[in-house]
Amino acid sequence: MRLGTALVLSAPSGAGKTTLVHRLLQEFPQFAFSISCTTRAPRAGEVDGRDYHFLTKERFAAMRSEGAFAEWAEVHGNYYGTPLGPLRELLAAGRDVLLDVDVQGAAQLRLSLHNAATVFILPPSMQELERRLRSRGTDSDDVIATRLANAGKEIAEARWFESIIVNDDLNRACDELRAIYLAATLRTPLHRTVIDTLLQ
Ligand code: ADP
Ligand code: 5GP
Repeated sequence: MRLGTALVLSAPSGAGKTTLVHRLLQEFPQFAFSISCTTRAPRAGEVDGRDYHFLTKERFAAMRSEGAFAEWAEVHGNYYGTPLGPLRELLAAGRDVLLDVDVQGAAQLRLSLHNAATVFILPPSMQELERRLRSRGTDSDDVIATRLANAGKEIAEARWFESIIVNDDLNRACDELRAIYLAATLRTPLHRTVIDTLLQ
């Protein structure tokens, strides 16, 4: 049995990451999605325990001091963190895990998860990014302005990621994400026990 692979995705808000994640999870139902903790309020349609674990600031701070996060960061004025226990267990059991984190989280995971495949999703243009944020209809003008202001800073970090996808045509972006994922599952370090078993 091989070890699980961690696919770490980052993007400025509105680039289409959630859309791509849903497509990938539909195609590969064995994928586990790392459910993050957050102190932000749920959006319409979001379900606690499915999209996020929605926590109070106090609960989040307590988990942080217990070392319960693989990484955590403050993003757009709210706290987000990846629970460490479930991630470790899934990878050890050979499950592939999809992580949707900001650039600060990806930087921490790059150091702590040796075999993580890190992917940055770019919008085709800043105008299109703004159009998508507005068309989603989930955020107020203030929130959209904060997200656009942060987008440039996040895009500046794209150079540290292993792979880049420009989400212009959605189907092509899905093809590219699938290719990156499948290549990541073929990495030699994940297959050491397979080799050892053959040589016994
Ligand atoms: P993110 O998770 O990165 O914030 P979403 O997946 O919510 O972004 O996408 C933002 C909006 O853009 C949504 O309304 C989504 O349907 C739309 N969208 C995503 N990908 C594309 C694409 N390739 N072309 C046009 N619209 C897209
Ligand atoms: P949103 O509020 O739109 O769901 O997410 C805002 C940002 O927080 C996105 O960039 C998303 O990738 C990031 N994010 C979500 N979960 C986590 C997490 O567990 N850790 C970190 N560092 N960022 C996260």
